[in-house]
Amino acid sequence: MGVYALTGGATGIGAALKRQLLEAGHEVISVDIREGDIIADLSTANGRQLAVEGIRARAPQGLDGYIPCAGLPPVAKPFSLIAKVNYFAAVETVAALRDLLASKRGTVLFVASNSAPMIGKDDPFVQACLAGDEAAACAGIEERDGHSAYAGSKRALVQWMRRNVVEYARAGVRLNAVAPGITQTPLTERVMADAQFGDAMKQFAEMVPWGGTAQPEQIANVMRFMLGEEAGFVCGSVFFVDGGSDAMLRTDDF
Ligand code: NAD
Repeated sequence: MGVYALTGGATGIGAALKRQLLEAGHEVISVDIREGDIIADLSTANGRQLAVEGIRARAPQGLDGYIPCAGLPPVAKPFSLIAKVNYFAAVETVAALRDLLASKRGTVLFVASNSAPMIGKDDPFVQACLAGDEAAACAGIEERDGHSAYAGSKRALVQWMRRNVVEYARAGVRLNAVAPGITQTPLTERVMADAQFGDAMKQFAEMVPWGGTAQPEQIANVMRFMLGEEAGFVCGSVFFVDGGSDAMLRTDDF
């Protein structure tokens, strides 16, 4: 049985994945701002350090997998918090845990979004994220909007993953991402209740080809597969679990 660490395990998709991994007999180390084995605010340098040190202390023999799942919605404020939690905390903790993962030929599964392709790869916020310039990314995004912060943070996450696939694979770590569509979690409830974003999200849910929204377990099912032995040759992939919405929006792109 494996040893997995994840962030954002208190609710939603992370909680569903945690449940499934535990049910399958794995050990799970959960990091979250609210409840978990390690309580840490991943928007801060101190919180990220606590998370990494806590995981290292609990998994000295190495990790079979790490899932930086914690994330904030487009309605979170300030927008820089979205950049900090969704992008910078994820890539920083992955880099800090790389040796633990390599020692077991482990795997990282990022949690992107079907909204990641909705923003251009040349977007200045995406570029600032990829340059590793947290101060510039945070300052720039404050002048913009929640959608750009959210979709941009997820786009940057996928691009960071793709850029690092070769180096990490050669070091013995498989990188992949899952890109969920609208999923029924507390994050989505917050967006649906928002005066600015709620109606647009409800309209989008009605357009999803396979119909409506996902349950967190449906996303976790795919994540568990991607983390496991059966997906042992899956490397550098972005797996959309979105009821067909990405295919609807970007029909000829893949
Ligand atoms: P959620 O709100 O249920 O879960 C997010 C988790 O992150 C919570 O446990 C929360 O406590 C934790 N968290 C938030 N800020 C934190 C911080 N500063 N430090 C540590 N932990 C923090 O939401 P969810 O929908 O389950 O989202 C999980 C992931 O899936 C996120 O990365 C989200 O962007 C992504 N996602 C969700 C959807 C969706 O429709 N729900 C769609 C695409 C992608």
